[in-house]
Amino acid sequence: MMIIMKANATPQEVDAVIEKINSIGLSVHLSQGIERTIIGAIGEAHNLPKDQFEVLSGVETVRRITQPFKLASRQFHPENSVFPIDGFRIGGQELTLIAGPCSVESRSQILETAHAVKEAGANALRGGVFKPRTSPYSFQGLGEEGLEYLAEARQQTGLPIVVEIMSQVQIDLMLEYVDVLQVGTRNMQNYNLLSVIGSTQKPVLLKRGFSASVQELLMSAEYILSGGNKQVILCERGIRTFETATRNTTDINAVPVLKSLTHLPVVLDPSHSTGNADFVSPIARAGIAAGADGLIIEVHPDPAHALSDGRQSLTPEAYASLVRQTKAIAEAVDRRVLTSSVMEHG
Ligand code: PEP
Ligand code: MN
Repeated sequence: MMIIMKANATPQEVDAVIEKINSIGLSVHLSQGIERTIIGAIGEAHNLPKDQFEVLSGVETVRRITQPFKLASRQFHPENSVFPIDGFRIGGQELTLIAGPCSVESRSQILETAHAVKEAGANALRGGVFKPRTSPYSFQGLGEEGLEYLAEARQQTGLPIVVEIMSQVQIDLMLEYVDVLQVGTRNMQNYNLLSVIGSTQKPVLLKRGFSASVQELLMSAEYILSGGNKQVILCERGIRTFETATRNTTDINAVPVLKSLTHLPVVLDPSHSTGNADFVSPIARAGIAAGADGLIIEVHPDPAHALSDGRQSLTPEAYASLVRQTKAIAEAVDRRVLTSSVMEHG
């Protein structure tokens, strides 16, 4: 349930509503909009009569949130969520460009890639150190050694780092190093992991499960939000369909569908959604045209010798060209691509 306060409601009136919600045993989620305060009473609220709140002073109206994902829904939070990540803001007018290798493979590989993607205009560096590989015999990632290299890359370039967390046992290590926690497609419904992340204040990039519906993705986001962590970024990374011409099928529909259902930022991962470097750029452009707030893209200095996902990885040159092309689309749809030089000048 959502209690919408009058524009001139006093802090005491807001407090009285909060107290009432607490006394019923529901949890309180405050959304301080530009014009007014909305207070969410979240929990088993469907049988609760609305007039219990309507009569309180300072309350303008009380509405039920009909979607099962309460805190993630646009009903609860009509404006886009925009939040800062070391060095940029996601969800606003500017596009977020996250780029880097699938896996951190060596110090020189991540440093070289970090400088190249920064030069091309990226605002954040990606790189996996715990890799969810289909085969236990494939490269599994460098673990903490990889985090050390990423930290050095951040220190040299100023780019915040986005790294996948595979299990809740990695949380302390990850919190020490990373700027954005990535939850991969295979873990989208690992509710224990989501709850642990919800209890932190780290921004999260939550990838859609490859066989999960949009609603299931939003319910997973709700696990994180209901723990008190509001900085959730959703990522469409392709789903499994009958089509075998590409690794996955980019559900481009999901971009505007998510933007209509939720206030959370939405990014597209055309690397995993196509699985083929030749198709990454066109699908990246489609994503921006469809309204995505950003892109996460795999870039490797030598894709042919990458230890994971080489086939879908762009060379730094191809990535720079993608950013240039994306810029034209962004301008056409009234968004901005920040290049590194623009960022340095404020
Ligand atoms: C990745 O980003 O390298 C990755 C493993 O992604 P996904 O979880 O989408 O497969
Ligand atoms: Mn990958």
